[in-house]
Amino acid sequence: MNDRKQLEAIEDAHLAPYAMRAGNSVGRAFPEAEHDYRTCFQRDRDRIIHCAAFRRLQYKTQVFLNWEGDHFRTRLTHTIEVAQAARTIARALALNEDLCEAVSLAHDLGHTPFGHAGEHAMRDLMRDHGGYEHNGQSLRIVDELERHYQPRFPGLNLTHEVRHGLMKHVTDYDKPLFKGLTTREGPSLEAQVANFADEISYNAHDVDDGIDSKVLTWQAGRKSELFAEAEAFARANVPEGEDDLLRYQLVRRLKDLQVTDLLEHTARRLKEEGFSDVRAVLAYAGKEPVVDFSPAFKAKVKGLKVMLFNELYMSRTVRRSMEKVTRFMRQLFERFVSEPYLMPGGFVKRIEQRVRTHRVVCDYIAGMTDRYAKEQYKKLFDPDVW
Ligand code: MG
Repeated sequence: MNDRKQLEAIEDAHLAPYAMRAGNSVGRAFPEAEHDYRTCFQRDRDRIIHCAAFRRLQYKTQVFLNWEGDHFRTRLTHTIEVAQAARTIARALALNEDLCEAVSLAHDLGHTPFGHAGEHAMRDLMRDHGGYEHNGQSLRIVDELERHYQPRFPGLNLTHEVRHGLMKHVTDYDKPLFKGLTTREGPSLEAQVANFADEISYNAHDVDDGIDSKVLTWQAGRKSELFAEAEAFARANVPEGEDDLLRYQLVRRLKDLQVTDLLEHTARRLKEEGFSDVRAVLAYAGKEPVVDFSPAFKAKVKGLKVMLFNELYMSRTVRRSMEKVTRFMRQLFERFVSEPYLMPGGFVKRIEQRVRTHRVVCDYIAGMTDRYAKEQYKKLFDPDVW
């Protein structure tokens, strides 16, 4: 049987010199004895999967509102796709797959209900109250809001490496919100991989859901060179008239092209830079990322994103639901801020413990699933629902 020590030895022998090793983790904010047969990153992954915020991802919107169709991506299936892509990339580059997986599984825990619309609305609502950013909120969830181990410690007490990986877009490291993470070092290669796995996944699956919903047309898609390239591949491999098959092959190709370019370019960069260890990577990544697409391909990915933005995210169908969501999230938010006792007891208690009211309301609403938020709205405002 492989115990933890043996698993750490296997990592040591098989991972690249610049990969994070569980055996070298900086550790946890609240020291704990190590597990017998799981590395610290495996243990973090398991803690993430077992937290309530993870299960709620199932009923949170990715792009299409949760109730619009049963086979569109939800935040949970998006997260699983991200973890899958991250593991493939990590394994191919001999990086730490468990760390990549843990960061990927936690990356959207802090996302609001109602997808991008919800996030925009929350950013606006929190503008003068310390801000809201979903990666920062993910960190807040694993550090403070999940309650599994109290009174020993708040949150999930994850390793420094996983927490650091969650900070990807948080620029001001010295915010009190992120106490204990004041390092100026750049993200690990594993965190960078998780970042790109996120982007690669939504670029591909938003095309899939966009076409499936008929909001995105094939004709509009062709405004992107990458889309056109993937479509040509799909048409050459799918019999005439098989539209669903054509879409599957298009999306499969889109994902494959992105992962392949990222892998090849990053492997080249790693070879050129010749990093001897993790420290060298972190110091370098403080200035610029190592994991990346090749410059020519990056331009194509940008074109795909521009197309998705104009043709899908800014389409009338999506915008109409965004407008509505923004309006009713504001109403919910304002109601709870002016009458905090309308929230469940645990949240009211946090206000009594001097956490600022706006922050507590933000935590409450950001944690809601789409359907729970709708229910709360009806309970607060619909005279026929009590
Ligand atoms: Mg994501």
